[in-house]
Amino acid sequence: MNDAPTNDDPILRIEALSKDFGPVRAVDAVSLDIRRNEFFALLGPSGCGKSTLLRMLAGFEMPSGGRILLEGEDISGLKPERRPVNLMFQSYALFPHMSVLRNIAYGLEMERLPRAEIRARVDEIMAVTDLTGFADRKPEQLSGGQKQRVALARALVKRPKVLLLDEPLGALDKKLRERMQLELKRLQHDVGITFIVVTHDQEEALVMADRMAILRDGKLLQCGSPETVYENPTDRFVANFIGVMNFIEGRIGGDGHFSAKSVRLPVPHLAAGPTALAIRPEDVGIEHGGDAGIPGRITDIAYNGLDRVLHVAIDASATPIQVRVPARVEAGHAIGEPIRIAIAPDRCKFFPA
Ligand code: ATP
Repeated sequence: MNDAPTNDDPILRIEALSKDFGPVRAVDAVSLDIRRNEFFALLGPSGCGKSTLLRMLAGFEMPSGGRILLEGEDISGLKPERRPVNLMFQSYALFPHMSVLRNIAYGLEMERLPRAEIRARVDEIMAVTDLTGFADRKPEQLSGGQKQRVALARALVKRPKVLLLDEPLGALDKKLRERMQLELKRLQHDVGITFIVVTHDQEEALVMADRMAILRDGKLLQCGSPETVYENPTDRFVANFIGVMNFIEGRIGGDGHFSAKSVRLPVPHLAAGPTALAIRPEDVGIEHGGDAGIPGRITDIAYNGLDRVLHVAIDASATPIQVRVPARVEAGHAIGEPIRIAIAPDRCKFFPA
């Protein structure tokens, strides 16, 4: 058997990793494989354990259980500086009295590399991060996005095998954040380094990540590509956390139907019992004329340019059902208007209560 690593081997393998802080289990037996050159996002609400997981990968926290393997080697017990892994902090932690160039070169100077090599590597990374021309500025003379790029350059110049980023865009305003999401993705592609990014922002994870893991209460709920997780959430929490989802509480009866007041759909292969139906706003249709569909009334209309979201109150749901329709096609609706909506069984997900 040949044990040489291939491109398909995970660069990082996380095996049943746990962390307890006294009685709090911050990370609970998480197992994950991160692929080489992947842009991986750790996503979850505040307190779900994503930063603790990242800090264990960096070596700033010691696991209470489990292992971390980098290219097959157990690095769980190594000190941070002995790991070929670099963590970029949310605060950037730039040295205020040093120029951009010195900030970036600092880590290499500490390694006592030859001057010419330091200069060449710094120049190269400044070009990749679009900082050429800013070499002599001090951090206070930079915009938020530029500071963010200096912090990235400083981490990348050390050529880590894996770069860990804790809420890398957290300090930026919305517009810049959106631009930097694409820039970060381009940069990751250009440098060919595996990125693991922690974020609580599901839109950000969807835009940037090749794959993402969703955590809650320290547990891994689902891992997959943004498209897989959005289209096929395997867990009710994930279904609700990623994108917008309508839920209708009902039950599956022995007759193979889901029912909740005026909603009744065939679900032949599912077990009977209390069940929540989940459907995305873009998968709810409008019935024009006739008495097909589920009767309701429009309670709100949100116009977004490309589309329009109608909020439709129906008897089966305490909260109005959101219906996303093309704005130009479905013009002329009004609040208070009676309307009939259609729910296609093959677009629904069902979660046992
Ligand atoms: P946020 O998005 O708010 O940063 P997070 O998902 O990164 O949250 P963590 O910071 O990993 O969450 O925290 C996970 C849990 O562990 C939380 O309940 C937190 O209170 C607890 N925790 C984290 N660090 C410590 C610590 N040093 N001592 C005790 N409890 C801690």
